[in-house]
Amino acid sequence: MNAVMPIPGHIDPVPVPREPVLRADGRRDLLGRSRETLREMLAEEGLDPKQAKLRAKQLWHWIYNRGATDFTVMTDIAKAMHPWLAERFVIGRPDVVEAQVSNDGTRKWLLRSPDGHDYEMVFIPDADRGTLCVSSQVGCTLTCSFCHTGTMRLVRNLTAGEIVGQVMLARDALGEWPSQPDGRLLTNIVMMGMGEPLYNFESVRDALKLVMDGDGLALSKRRITLSTSGVVPMMARAGEEIGVNLAVSLHGVTKEVRDELVPLNRKYGIEELLAACADYPGANNARRITFEYVMLKGRNDSDEDAHELVRLLRKYKLPAKVNLIPFNPWPGAAYECSDPDRIRRFSNIVFEGGISAPVRTPRGRDIDAACGQLKTAAEKKSRAQRDREAAEGLTQG
Ligand code: SAH
Ligand code: SF4
Repeated sequence: MNAVMPIPGHIDPVPVPREPVLRADGRRDLLGRSRETLREMLAEEGLDPKQAKLRAKQLWHWIYNRGATDFTVMTDIAKAMHPWLAERFVIGRPDVVEAQVSNDGTRKWLLRSPDGHDYEMVFIPDADRGTLCVSSQVGCTLTCSFCHTGTMRLVRNLTAGEIVGQVMLARDALGEWPSQPDGRLLTNIVMMGMGEPLYNFESVRDALKLVMDGDGLALSKRRITLSTSGVVPMMARAGEEIGVNLAVSLHGVTKEVRDELVPLNRKYGIEELLAACADYPGANNARRITFEYVMLKGRNDSDEDAHELVRLLRKYKLPAKVNLIPFNPWPGAAYECSDPDRIRRFSNIVFEGGISAPVRTPRGRDIDAACGQLKTAAEKKSRAQRDREAAEGLTQG
């Protein structure tokens, strides 16, 4: 089924499959389903309403709280029922194509969907926490000029199962089942991998609901951050229906510069974006909105830019913090990272304006896992392949 995500405004929605891909063996994957959907699926297979409700509740607990992928471990479900379930259903995980570890401990996984699309997730361990950077789409339609993901040609929305599947795979890898309140390695989630999460709103929302459910993956909404490049018409719904922390990719303070860096700015300008931030439900001084700002040499890093940033954030009375991201280079990028002194000066000006402005330490650069470096190896290879072929005169154009 091709479901189209309707986004109000002059945005072309991405016509992509959102329903889970059918498996060759005809069994249906339970990953990513809500309690209600599980109940419906069991009823469709012939369980009476009372049974379907009970079994759905039990399955849900085993899947999201215990991390089970095998029905035989489900001790509170009658043994005789295990083969019945296994004939009809599986509890899947994304396929891992490649797993890499950076010399700073950052880990990156290249994942593949059943219909052959590649996407990535990154785990960033720190002294006091561990953050999983989750993808919402294969590629991205938004072509921000400094971002490698934006140069991927192929775009497909990930399903809720593929999104929550990333978190579950990380839990598998870290050995963190069942969900527990203390001593976790995976403590935080950022929707900052490939893709624009607000262009895949429903699947992102459904996946994060499973993540936040106390009997599911049980991660608090305060430990989850959704980053958007500024899809203004979806921001209020994100606040109401998901309610996680908001990060906004600002990157420029004038129309001219932001139009170039984040082309979506031509549709939803800076002032409109900041007004939507001011209205974001739940934003207050304890829960501030993060403004991401990539540091690009000679493009957006002057003293005037820093002062203008402070002025804008103050004008809208935003409970804000600024996250300065040193630009992570990728082959063919048209930008350079600002010098460390420039970044420090910029940070100080914002800080003197009363807004905290830490500089984000780049992580996993050696394995292309840092912000904006994500682009699947498969696509890199095919481009390298194309270049070789072109050099050898095998293809034209
Ligand atoms: N699409 C969403 C979330 C994913 S990108 C968004 O744009 O907000 C996560 C962050 O990394 C964004 O702030 C993005 O602008 C930034 N980023 C992209 N490319 C980068 C690069 N090459 N160097 C540093 N940060 C980059
Ligand atoms: Fe897409 Fe975000 Fe990259 Fe822009 S910065 S192209 S919105 S992933």
